[in-house]
Amino acid sequence: MTGATVLRCESCGATYGDDLPHATCPACDGLLLAEHAPPAVRGAELRALFDSRVVASPGSARERSGVWRFRELVLHAADDAIISHPEGNTPLITRPAISAYAGVDDLVMKHEGHNPTGSFKDRGMTVALTQARRVKARAVACASTGNTSASLSAYAAHAGIPSFVFVPAGQISAGKLAQTIAYGARVLPIDGDFDDCLRLAREAATLGIYLVNSVNPFRLEGQKTIVFELLQQLGWQSPDWIALPAGNLGNTSAFGKALREARSLGLIDRVPRLLAVQAAGAAPFAKAFAEGFVTHHRVRAETRATAIRIGDPASWDRAVTAITETDGRVVAVSDEEIFAAKAVIDHAGVGCEPASAASIAGVQKLVAAGEIPSTARVTAVLTGHLLKDPGTTADSLPATLSYAAAMDVLRRVAG
Ligand SMILES: *Cc1c(COP(=O)(O)O)cnc(C)c1O
Ligand SMILES: [Zn+2]
Repeated sequence: MTGATVLRCESCGATYGDDLPHATCPACDGLLLAEHAPPAVRGAELRALFDSRVVASPGSARERSGVWRFRELVLHAADDAIISHPEGNTPLITRPAISAYAGVDDLVMKHEGHNPTGSFKDRGMTVALTQARRVKARAVACASTGNTSASLSAYAAHAGIPSFVFVPAGQISAGKLAQTIAYGARVLPIDGDFDDCLRLAREAATLGIYLVNSVNPFRLEGQKTIVFELLQQLGWQSPDWIALPAGNLGNTSAFGKALREARSLGLIDRVPRLLAVQAAGAAPFAKAFAEGFVTHHRVRAETRATAIRIGDPASWDRAVTAITETDGRVVAVSDEEIFAAKAVIDHAGVGCEPASAASIAGVQKLVAAGEIPSTARVTAVLTGHLLKDPGTTADSLPATLSYAAAMDVLRRVAG
């Protein structure tokens, strides 16, 4: 495999090498997109190469990681610098009760909550911290609704690079905050919302700290592997739809780029349609979609699904491209619909954090509206683990029972 990765500014068109020590364009602060020299092989040969790397441990971290297995499409030059847990290799799950709820027989869930820190953010962070090491970053920083900070903190510890996270004070779930503190990041709780935190992180970048928010192009490269890996697990047979929750729109953008590349490299011959699902209280993108994407909206975000409580998504334009190119859809679901779906997912023994349940709620909504036929092949991405947000289920903890009262319960069940 030859070639390198080039970073191209989507605003001014400038290009940079893969050793750029900035996350955004040094000339205009625009978003950078990574472009890779095409791998030496394509189509069936490239599928075979990727399949040959699905090896049991022990193997090198590069082979065991569900991200670095696809390295030609992620970051060519990483080699010795790779900071890998390893991550990825998340399961595909089917459960009749969840299929019945959504209204599609062939519903597969890709559970990204099975990543090392419990969310898909690890797939982007392994690449971002690898890159931070390659450019010899003195420190890394991000703004976060929680999962990014947990992941950053773990991977920065692994890389031995000091890390800073800006979080909206009082708005981060206990599980995510506990992880972030435990792994050793410096946590800066901000009196403001996520969008304020993102502005601060961008400020940090002007002081020479390497920014690893989803504006960092390498985060997207890593997150693309959710799609590569699920296609691989499906034998490279595209589903009809891929559903995912959408907040800052980094993942929606990454999925669009992954599908474009998979199609052009002949990994698949048919592109699935993307279904991006927002929480109704944080749905500027769904609103814009309904209007035909003529306006870029911002809202004051409010939802109990904190991972998608974002009012001013950073990756807007790329996500528009992703939805347009895949003939996709964007829908909003209420918190009631999210928590109803979550209850079904949890009671099936699968479990996920609230934001993740939006993808099932969104599928259910489009099936009910007749837009997705019950015969469609649907893959829904569950983005985070149940334990990320214990507060939302701890409300229903039973009251304390005496020994005798507990025995009564058992006797009633035993009949
Ligand atoms: C980050 C995150 C999302 C939203 O992804 P975006 O790229 O911001 O759209 C959804 N669910 C979970 C669990 C997340 O951590
Ligand atoms: Zn630029």
